[in-house]
Amino acid sequence: MGTPTLHFSPKDRYNAFLTTVEDAPYCEGPLSGRGVAVKDNISTAGIETTCGSLILKGYTPPYDAHVVDLLIRAGAAIVGKTNMDEFGMGSTTEQSAFGPTLNPRDPKRVPGGSSGGSAAAVAAGMVDFALGSDTGGSIRCPASYCGIVGLKPTYGRVSRYGLVAYSNSLEQIGPMARTVTDLSNLMVVISGYDPRDSTTCERPYRHKPHPSVKGSKVGIPEEFFGEGVDPRVASVVWDAISVLEEEGAEVITCSMPSMTYALAAYYVICTSEASSNLARFDGVRYGPPVETHLPWHEAYSERRRIGFGPEVRRRVMLGTFALSSGYYGKYYAKAQVARQMVSADFSRIFNEVDLIAGPTMPSTAFPLGEKTDPLAMYLTDILTVPANLAGVPAISVPCGEVEGMPVGLQIMGRPFEDEYVIDAAFTYEQGVAT
Ligand code: GLN
Repeated sequence: MGTPTLHFSPKDRYNAFLTTVEDAPYCEGPLSGRGVAVKDNISTAGIETTCGSLILKGYTPPYDAHVVDLLIRAGAAIVGKTNMDEFGMGSTTEQSAFGPTLNPRDPKRVPGGSSGGSAAAVAAGMVDFALGSDTGGSIRCPASYCGIVGLKPTYGRVSRYGLVAYSNSLEQIGPMARTVTDLSNLMVVISGYDPRDSTTCERPYRHKPHPSVKGSKVGIPEEFFGEGVDPRVASVVWDAISVLEEEGAEVITCSMPSMTYALAAYYVICTSEASSNLARFDGVRYGPPVETHLPWHEAYSERRRIGFGPEVRRRVMLGTFALSSGYYGKYYAKAQVARQMVSADFSRIFNEVDLIAGPTMPSTAFPLGEKTDPLAMYLTDILTVPANLAGVPAISVPCGEVEGMPVGLQIMGRPFEDEYVIDAAFTYEQGVAT
C-alpha cells in the first residue's frame, strides 16, 4: 500500500495560495488527513517558499521548519503555501510581490495581513487549519478582518526554527482556524521545546478548551477604546465583553499609558531587526543571480533593488539608519526603554486582573488600495503590537459585524497562560452560540 494522499485543487478565487500541493501525503496521527495551509515564510522541504518576495522566487528549502515537521508527524497534509505581505511587512497582504489576496467576506476589501492568505484560505473553507506568523499582529489582524480565530502564542512557546526571520525578538508562529477548538487542537501539535530554537521553553500546550471565566477579572485598558477606534467597532466589542460578564467574569477598567510609545518602539525595533535579518538576501546564496560585472557592493545593491519591493526597501533603510553609529542611542536604545515600559504596564495590570480584552483592530477591513500612505497603514497596528513587545499571548475571536464585515475581540493573558486566553475565547464562542 502506498502512502495515502489528500487531493487538493481548490478554486482559489481569492489568491490565498502561492503554491498548492495537489496530492499531499499524510500519515496516521491526531490530524490524519486534515489539510493545513502554511504561510509562505515557513520552510517546507521540497515546496517553494518565497515569503511573498521576488528575491526568493524559485527557492525551495532543503528542510522543514520545526512546526511543519510536527504537523507531518501528527498526520496533517501540507496542502499549500499561502500569500503574504513580503517578508511579513504589512497589514493587508497588498505588499505581496504576487498580487494581493482578497477578503472572502467581500472580495473588494483587504483580508488583513501579513498572514492574509492563511486567513482567507480558512475563512473561505478551503482548509480547516492554517499557520501564520505574528510579529506585530499578522495573525490577529487578518483573523479579525476575515472573521476567524487566530492566536499569537507566548514568545517561546512555538519554535521559530525554519521561520524566515523578519523581527525575531517579536515574532511567533501561531494557529488560525474557524473555531477555538480547532485552533486549540493545532496548538497542541505545534507547541513545545525545540533544541534548534534556544528561545523555546519546556512548556508544551496540552489542553482542551473549556468555559472558565467565572470569577476571572478582565481588564479593559481605556487606551484600547481611544480616538482612532471606529465607534461602531468599539460598541460591538463592548457587547462581546458583556457576554464574558454574563458568563461570570468581573470587568475592570484600567490604563496602559505606555501605549503612547508602543507603535513607535515597535517600528524602530522591527525595522532594525529586519535590516540585519534581511542582509543575507544577497543574490549569491538566495535569489535569481543578476548578470553583472559591477563591484560586489554595487551588484549586491542592484540585486536587492530588483528583488525587494518598496516596503521592504523602506524598512531596511529605516532600520539601517536607526542602528547607525551616532543614532543608535537616539532611536534603538530609546525603543528598548519604551518596550520595557510596555512590559512593565502588562505586569502591573496582570497583578490586578487575569486577562486583558479589547478590539483586535481599530476598524473592519477596508477597500483594497485605500491605504497607500505607509504611516496610515502602520497606525492600524496600534492595538496588536503591545502583546508582541511584551511577549504575552493574544487571541482574536470573531465577535460580531459592522456593515457585514467581521469584528475581532482580542484577549491577552499572562506569559505562558495561553490556555487561559484560549479558554476565555472558547467561553465567548460558546456563550454566543447558546
Ligand atoms: N503590520 C505589522 C508590520 O507590518 C505586523 C506584521 C507582522 O506581524 N508580521 O510589521
